[in-house]
Amino acid sequence: MSLENLRLIDVAKPAARRSLQARVVWGDRVVTIGGDAPVRVQSMTNTDTVDVIGTAIQVKELAIAGSELVRITVNTPEAAEAVPHVRDQLDRMGIDVPLVGDFHFNGHRLLTDYPACAQALSKYRINPGNVGKGDKKDRQFAQMIEAAMRYDKVVRIGVNWGSLDQELLAALMDENAASVDPWTAKQVMYQALISSALQSAQAARDLGMRPEQIILSCKVSGVQDLLSVYRGLAQRCDYPLHLGLTEAGMGTKGTVASATALSILLQEGIGDTIRVSLTPQPGEARTQEVVVALEILQALGLRTFVPSVTACPGCGRTTSTVFQDLAKQIDDYLRAQMPVWRKQFPGVENLKVAVMGCIVNGPGESKHADIGISLPGNGEAPAAPVFIDGEKALTLRGDRIAEEFQQLVQTYIERRFAPVASA
Ligand code: SF4
Repeated sequence: MSLENLRLIDVAKPAARRSLQARVVWGDRVVTIGGDAPVRVQSMTNTDTVDVIGTAIQVKELAIAGSELVRITVNTPEAAEAVPHVRDQLDRMGIDVPLVGDFHFNGHRLLTDYPACAQALSKYRINPGNVGKGDKKDRQFAQMIEAAMRYDKVVRIGVNWGSLDQELLAALMDENAASVDPWTAKQVMYQALISSALQSAQAARDLGMRPEQIILSCKVSGVQDLLSVYRGLAQRCDYPLHLGLTEAGMGTKGTVASATALSILLQEGIGDTIRVSLTPQPGEARTQEVVVALEILQALGLRTFVPSVTACPGCGRTTSTVFQDLAKQIDDYLRAQMPVWRKQFPGVENLKVAVMGCIVNGPGESKHADIGISLPGNGEAPAAPVFIDGEKALTLRGDRIAEEFQQLVQTYIERRFAPVASA
């Protein structure tokens, strides 16, 4: 077989994304969304916003985990009053992550009656299905948009099929019923979600809002539904899109469903900022949703956040758990060090480490990594060759292989990623 007999295979890469770009600002911190900006990671607290310290601590944890925007609930006058105090607390802790206010039903009043809240937030989430009914709807929506323009904030017009504008849906259903070639109920639902977002964006523009202040989302909880809706939305506008599978669920199910839906759309260039809406399992940290979001972007090659550890799944060639324990130990160690290393060793997030279980794929995979170890499988000599930059560098033996390999990784990082002192 020669190269001429083979068809050229394209190198997969994500499609280009939107051209409009929003700037979400707090102090000197500017988070760009859309355009040529990287896909951003967002999260949301599950604390009572009135609990200023508890909320600030959770926002800090989410920010340290990698969330570039954190949304908080603003549902009552007390919560609106607490928002500037949460912001102050974060500023005192040196956390400059922009805060997003999540408003439903009474956002128009809260943003008007609590100007310090409106100022302390960097972005407002407005749900067109929950701004009001009948003649109040336009007026209350306008109040929120005017607050955003007054304080120069970005808004996300966030439609959700759990709270879809029922008047709009009913009107579309009626129109569809009278059509000679009616759509299915599902297609009408998709259309209602997209129309709600686009009509609200147009209403905001008519009120004088700049297009760069607008981000859209249309969240649903089914993977195929999300693909249909976002493809339709992306075709019809150029606003940056916030992407997420709403109410994804918990654990493996929520993680897999989110990763599946988001990955397909991100690869198509759809999605400028993402949130993974995981229900935390009992005892699970809220930061897990951030971890999953980072992993999705890193797996797609869209962004790099933490060094990657390649580990084999193990099989009958290795019945010991030594390589599993070592892979986990190295992974935990690298993640724990990253908040410090990110500043100390620029580029360290690109490091690739391999921890492999036996000689079959161990040396090969280790050579592809920056630093890798191939542990002995069943029947192999009790020796673990270490490969550095593709070359076999040394062999570890004995009971302290894990500690010694971790030390080698540390030494490699210091050598390769320490900034070169300027003359
Ligand atoms: S590297 Fe060895 S131990 Fe790991 S999965 Fe492959 S054959 Fe099994």
